[in-house]
Amino acid sequence: MALLQISEPGQSTKPHERRFAAGIDLGTTNSLVATVRSGQIETLPDEQGEHLLPSVVRYMENELSPIVGEKARQSAADDPLNTISSAKRFMGRGLDDIKHLGERLPYDFVQAKTSVPRIKTVAGDKSPIEVSAEILRVLKERAEKTLGDGLTGVVITVPAYFDDAQRQATKDAGKLAGLNVMRLLNEPTAAAVAYGLDKSAEGITAIFDLGGGTFDISILRLNKGVFEVLSTAGDTELGGDDFDHVIAQWFMQQANIGEDASHGLIRRLLQEAREAKEALADVEAVQMNVLLDDGNKWQATLEREQLNQLIDPLIQKTVVTSRRALRDAQVTIEDIQAVVMVGGSTRTLRVREKIAEFFGQAPKVNIDPDKVVAVGAAIQAEVLAGNKADDDLLLLDVIPLSLGLETMGGLVEKIIPRNTTIPVARAQDFTTFKDGQTGMTVHVLQGERELVTDCRSLGQFALHGIPSMVAGAARIRVTFQVDADGLLSVTAEEETKQVEASIQIKPSYGLTDAEIETMLRDSITYAKDDVELRNLREHQVEADRVIDALQMALQQDGDLLTEDEVKAIEEALLELHKVRTGTDHRSIKNAIDKLNVATTEFAASRMNKSIKQALTGHKLDEFD
Ligand code: ADP
Ligand code: MG
Repeated sequence: MALLQISEPGQSTKPHERRFAAGIDLGTTNSLVATVRSGQIETLPDEQGEHLLPSVVRYMENELSPIVGEKARQSAADDPLNTISSAKRFMGRGLDDIKHLGERLPYDFVQAKTSVPRIKTVAGDKSPIEVSAEILRVLKERAEKTLGDGLTGVVITVPAYFDDAQRQATKDAGKLAGLNVMRLLNEPTAAAVAYGLDKSAEGITAIFDLGGGTFDISILRLNKGVFEVLSTAGDTELGGDDFDHVIAQWFMQQANIGEDASHGLIRRLLQEAREAKEALADVEAVQMNVLLDDGNKWQATLEREQLNQLIDPLIQKTVVTSRRALRDAQVTIEDIQAVVMVGGSTRTLRVREKIAEFFGQAPKVNIDPDKVVAVGAAIQAEVLAGNKADDDLLLLDVIPLSLGLETMGGLVEKIIPRNTTIPVARAQDFTTFKDGQTGMTVHVLQGERELVTDCRSLGQFALHGIPSMVAGAARIRVTFQVDADGLLSVTAEEETKQVEASIQIKPSYGLTDAEIETMLRDSITYAKDDVELRNLREHQVEADRVIDALQMALQQDGDLLTEDEVKAIEEALLELHKVRTGTDHRSIKNAIDKLNVATTEFAASRMNKSIKQALTGHKLDEFD
């Protein structure tokens, strides 16, 4: 099926200027590559005409390259230790995380202290990154064979919930396969792009992705051409494989197969179940034929109605999860403008029915659900490679590093955390540090570290004309806004709106990928030191504030105190002065607490005094 026509006359670059780019769906069960050729987006088949490449890699002894794809999948049962499937589940994960995946995994993991787990195979120890790279390498060759020329770059899709380590691992796999990874794209976003939803009016979309072993639902909001992920939910243990299991169990009941069935029989059964399930997407009933352990054949007819009964409880789980995703996104079913079906298992008609019922609308299925993610990735790749007009540029970026501002003590307060999708606006209130403070400098920083000196300075500006008030009374709202072009503007506004100042900055400008990586790595390496330092700085700042305020109060109202009281306060003050320059934030805190106790009375009498002053000359009934 020709999927989508995207080139517009006069807009595409001349043929000899074309740069080839591809989109890759690196799936848990199947992977695919798609490109744009003569204005048509198509997924690319292998020599046998198969578009889907099973994400399975079998390592062989003394072989230069492993077997990848359908052949490897078929041999999984015979050579389980050397045949790696579902490597995606381990990407960017430590050994401990993987162990939680349970005993379903047949592999031997190397018990090493390194953070990247490695699987023992006859061809040596392999990391999930290397396994994924083998899959990508096959797809790269497939693309180059079809396009005849070197690839400019690719877009690889990842689940929306992938964290930074998982994304980085995916990028590394791409690099290892010799690919230029122009961008990683969220799978649900890719599906939405494939349907051209980014060109439509603003709205909220649900992307329902039921694959082989995982289920994901994402609620996206399109805003000025950018998809924002409002929520994701899912089940990492639910997919088409579970459909196969319930069908196999049903068959075992029919054929009186017990728990003692051989591994070979179970494998044959699951394969037969899978074929039956897939066929039932088109026909009403199928024959299942399985060779039993006793040499006899057993035949059973599976009707669609029966299949529906078997899988309804599983589909119900996806409905419950979808409801949760809606709740997390704080939207209702009525808010959903489109539902997009993704993943091979959404070919099952019952899934479509139930999802249509739940959302109260027919889901979009006209693009092959197992190809739609690769198609969206190809569209994005085409744009990024520069083959489309500028105004077609999709802006699906996230902020690579946190944005924040300097607070007292040389500390950074993060306002927008990294990986936030743009455009975005976030505001935070700040206050004055000193009595009568009328100006304030806003220093904008980028980075993950706690101290200003360890982050990158993006610029600064001053806010003047803050009305004179006591320290802590003024409220200054600082708003960080990053628009779809990645342009940051920072505005500081005094609450009574008398004064305002702002600055515009291009935040990621000039930072290379390598620099961003180094900054991220440093933030992890130094995280503990940073917390200690932050604590120290914060307490030092608080000490300064307390000392300042107390000295001011003593000047103004010292006459309210007896000599003994003054002495006690001065002692506590001296103690605070002493520890203030030290490096132990706990002793600073203790000294502040002690000083607070010593000045409680003083504060109370000052309060009384000011109330009296305020009341002087007024009649009591004015205050009713
Ligand atoms: P993943 O995203 O996990 O890599 P896919 O989207 O490729 O997985 O989905 C694979 C699943 O889709 C398998 O369980 C497969 O049996 C199922 N599937 C493929 N075709 C059909 C079909 N016609 N009917 C039902 N399920 C199907
Ligand atoms: Mg998938």
